[in-house]
Amino acid sequence: MLLYNSLTREKEEFRPRIEGRVSMYTCGPTVYHFAHIGNLRTYTMEDVLDKYFRYLGYEVTRVMNITDVGHLSSDGDTGEDKMLKGAKREHKTVMQIAEYYTDAFFRDADKLNIKRPEVIEPATNCIPEFIDMVKALLDKGFAYEAGGNVYFDTSKLDKYYVFGDFSEEDLAVGVRDSVEEDGNKRNKADFVLWFTKSKFDDQELKWESPFGVGYPGWHIECSCIARKHLGEYLDIHCGGIDNAFPHHTNEIAQSESTFGHEWCRHWMHVHHLNTNSGKMSKSKGEFLTVPLLEERGYDPLVYRFFCLQSHYRKNLVFSWENLDNAKNAYEKLVAKIAALSPKQSESIDTAAFEAGRRRFTDALDNDLNTSLAVTALYDVLKLDTNDTTKLALINDFERVLSLGLLEAAAKLREADGEDGSSIDPELESYILDMIERRREAKRARDFALADSIRDELAAKGITLKDTREGTTYTVS
Ligand code: AMP
Ligand code: ZN
Repeated sequence: MLLYNSLTREKEEFRPRIEGRVSMYTCGPTVYHFAHIGNLRTYTMEDVLDKYFRYLGYEVTRVMNITDVGHLSSDGDTGEDKMLKGAKREHKTVMQIAEYYTDAFFRDADKLNIKRPEVIEPATNCIPEFIDMVKALLDKGFAYEAGGNVYFDTSKLDKYYVFGDFSEEDLAVGVRDSVEEDGNKRNKADFVLWFTKSKFDDQELKWESPFGVGYPGWHIECSCIARKHLGEYLDIHCGGIDNAFPHHTNEIAQSESTFGHEWCRHWMHVHHLNTNSGKMSKSKGEFLTVPLLEERGYDPLVYRFFCLQSHYRKNLVFSWENLDNAKNAYEKLVAKIAALSPKQSESIDTAAFEAGRRRFTDALDNDLNTSLAVTALYDVLKLDTNDTTKLALINDFERVLSLGLLEAAAKLREADGEDGSSIDPELESYILDMIERRREAKRARDFALADSIRDELAAKGITLKDTREGTTYTVS
């Protein structure tokens, strides 16, 4: 499988260190608020990668941290702990906030069919591990104590800015701009490993340590949690693109300085979900969540479908209109699958099955091209073969795509059976097309065309009704 590696900036053949096994680390959520659907784009694409590895026969161990301490309100080392901010906002303790939003995160992930990693580890469980690594970095001369905090000394590295996608100059400016001047740092890019002093003295969670009572920096948690569960070597580390710097850059600095060797060969970064007004962000307070999508009448799996229709290395723009398009396409796909009628006498047509499967793996083998994988799914429906084979292929692809297609198709068939008004899938597809054309006509302010579409449908006994959630129809 070819997969783009942010370290080398090339698509590379993915090869784990131990044949047949993949150790995978993914940065988890900071649980001071609900996850927004941008965060969940990253987790969805990581889920597809995880499942595709399994599909290819690898045994995967995936570890994810839960950030419940140390992530400050800037990605640098200033500002208040995000967890404490969340606790103040809701008049709760930090641990109550952590528990509440961790549960909410996994509820959302479940709705998007995102599988839980084998290991989920909150940062506050691993204080002794953090202290160990900080001690080792001090012993080896990669860290220093100043003004009550312990810092990583980036001047001790041959190469600090490891992700070539950024220019060193931009990153240095980024560090300077996002961080208030900290006079204790020897170099601008140095970062905190352990805090005992901060201007926010009301930090709720603090621990004893050889460096004083305090709390860990954000980056140290991922280095240590990965080491605790996966040892000194990782096959792949994933996260959203904003994590490449400073978070992942600092993780690499800490881990490789502690171990004295290369730590993780392959880095995968998912690009952002943006709205027309820019990046979606929890700290801005206003953001889109899975429960909000549900309130507006969208099945969360429609959002998963929306994510899969675009490549993970491209920014994706969210709008309700784009989501509506995904919803229409998803519903049509489900209707087509519901119309398949396998016969008991049929057996799987091996040649067609293999050909269908090849299209699917060709797509995903090429840097996880999920949009082509979805096209391969559509192609299955057009295959010149029996429905048993088509359903077998869909079932096979769903091991990776997890779009809930077969379940939705079964529900649709059941619903059709219940009210006795089973609608012909071709008719349904025609109606959905007409609704879509009418919506586009209205958007282009061509109301004459929109009305004529409505009239044409009415002449066939199909009545449209416009609701806040979209257009529905009845057939008389
Ligand atoms: P956080 O909860 O802020 O620590 O972020 C959780 C994950 O979501 C990280 O992997 C981030 O890189 C990722 N992320 C943050 N914002 C976005 C966005 N707008 N689109 C996609 N991924 C994002
Ligand atoms: Zn991390």
